[in-house]
Amino acid sequence: MNEAGMKCPQCSTFNNKILQTRSSPFHIKRRRQCLDCEARWTTYERVRPCNPVEGESV
Ligand SMILES: [Zn+2]
Repeated sequence: MNEAGMKCPQCSTFNNKILQTRSSPFHIKRRRQCLDCEARWTTYERVRPCNPVEGESV
């Protein structure tokens, strides 16, 4: 699991809220705001494909 994007880039706490969420077929974009220092940043989360193809040679 990758939770690095949820950490505040300024004060490194995980104390933040989501201001806005926008999803596309490829990723979910979230606007976050730190509750401690009020820094704002954006995270992008990969959307897993419905049919994961692993280890298959094309
Ligand atoms: Zn912060």
